[in-house]
Amino acid sequence: MHILVVEDEDRLAKNLATALGRNAGYAVDVALNGEDGLHLAQSSAFDCIVLDLMLPGRSGREVLHALRNAGDKTPVLILTARDDKASIVHLLNEGADDYLAKPFDLGELLARVKVLIRRSTGHASALLALGDLVLDTNRRSVSRAGRPIDLTPMEYRTLAYLMAHQGSVVSKETLLEHLYDYNWEKFSNVIEVYISALRRKIDANASTSLIHTIRGHGYVLSEESP
Ligand code: CA
Repeated sequence: MHILVVEDEDRLAKNLATALGRNAGYAVDVALNGEDGLHLAQSSAFDCIVLDLMLPGRSGREVLHALRNAGDKTPVLILTARDDKASIVHLLNEGADDYLAKPFDLGELLARVKVLIRRSTGHASALLALGDLVLDTNRRSVSRAGRPIDLTPMEYRTLAYLMAHQGSVVSKETLLEHLYDYNWEKFSNVIEVYISALRRKIDANASTSLIHTIRGHGYVLSEESP
């Protein structure tokens, strides 16, 4: 999953990037003003946008408008300095999905981001399951038939995205956009490397394979082979 943070307070932006990246395992991009935020939001695919309201140049509200007017449905969590009920109601009506008033607890922000991603991918619970494969997005753990499976952070990130979109064909390009931040050099063969590692760890010793390749299109996680 790929998160965009648009926040002009340098220190808070760094703390958010660390909490969402190192602690929660998401790919994170940070923009320090509304202009850059909007540009990034429109040039890559994100699973959630954390958007500060008071930004230099283009405000958070303007960024939200521009995104929603362009038909962008990415969940947006607004950060607001004041607990201004009227403007919050306004923003929610204008397409924001949630908000947090500063100062806020980073743990609460993480929980809310997780809920927004869960909802947007159509899952009600933090546990994602496919047959006997279970991925716990709270503990960031994976098991198959009750046996714990040890994954590297990038393998986990890849599997979490595929599990959230199980049953749908996910292209390599989509995976690259959702698994990596802006600063990574993107080579599509790294995806093949992660997929083959996941196959080895998840499917090799199981009676049914869950990871399928659709030649020329991408990958699908499914109990039935497509
Ligand atoms: Ca601000």
